Amino acid sequence: MKKNGHIHTPYCPHGTRDPLDQYIKEAISHGFSEISFTEHAPLPANFSDPAPGQDSSMDINELENYLQEIESLKKKYKDNIKINVGFEVDFIEGFENDTREFLDTYGKRIDDAILSVHFLKFENEYDCVDYSPQNFAEMVKKYGSIEKVYKNYYRTVLMSIHADLGIYKPKRIGHITLVHKFQKKFPPGYNDEADIMEILKAIKDKGYSLDFNGAGTAKPLCGEPYPPLWAANIASTLGIPLVYGSDAHQVKELLQGYDLMFRKR
Ligand code: ZN
Ligand code: FE
Repeated sequence: MKKNGHIHTPYCPHGTRDPLDQYIKEAISHGFSEISFTEHAPLPANFSDPAPGQDSSMDINELENYLQEIESLKKKYKDNIKINVGFEVDFIEGFENDTREFLDTYGKRIDDAILSVHFLKFENEYDCVDYSPQNFAEMVKKYGSIEKVYKNYYRTVLMSIHADLGIYKPKRIGHITLVHKFQKKFPPGYNDEADIMEILKAIKDKGYSLDFNGAGTAKPLCGEPYPPLWAANIASTLGIPLVYGSDAHQVKELLQGYDLMFRKR
């Protein structure tokens, strides 16, 4: 059973136009028996995307096409691979009600989903933590230290785990150490193992699973999966299900990190 539980699509405005068919064929050729398309769900209508490119999520006007296109591909490939349709849902502090409403509306139409933190609230403003090193530098300046950015990331991930987002709340928590994305340029200056442990324990208590995400391995300023191997090993020991996620935004990223992440585990 080889699953890839985190794949983006041509519906992602910061991704590529690689067609869904190609992702599926490539996944079959890599021996995946199950894949989940988890496009960034549309952001709440009155939330202004803080990413400078305003390109964080799919357009709500494309939602029907997205769901229907994958539904038909599920049937087309049903003898070759199990295809799930779903979302990567943003947890946004202060927008829990909007997110719950979205999930109440669309939850019954999806098979799988991830709950992720990309946006951090600080003094009533929001920032996108993984947009670019330049943007991260501006956050550090505003917060006062790298450590404060880290602490706010982990605080928000913990909130996401405890949030009441209704019966369709995703059961898998996305890239819990995304704040490491630029760590070689912005070392945190403290040991964040206790923060990560606290998150793993909360995931365990809730009975959730973990997005074991290969994207960071391909980012030169990160150089490790989300979460790093030591934390993934502890998660395994705790009995938390780890679900590999390539976080591919193009076909050639469908296996990113996989060998490194599963070699010695
Ligand atoms: Zn993305
Ligand atoms: Fe993400």
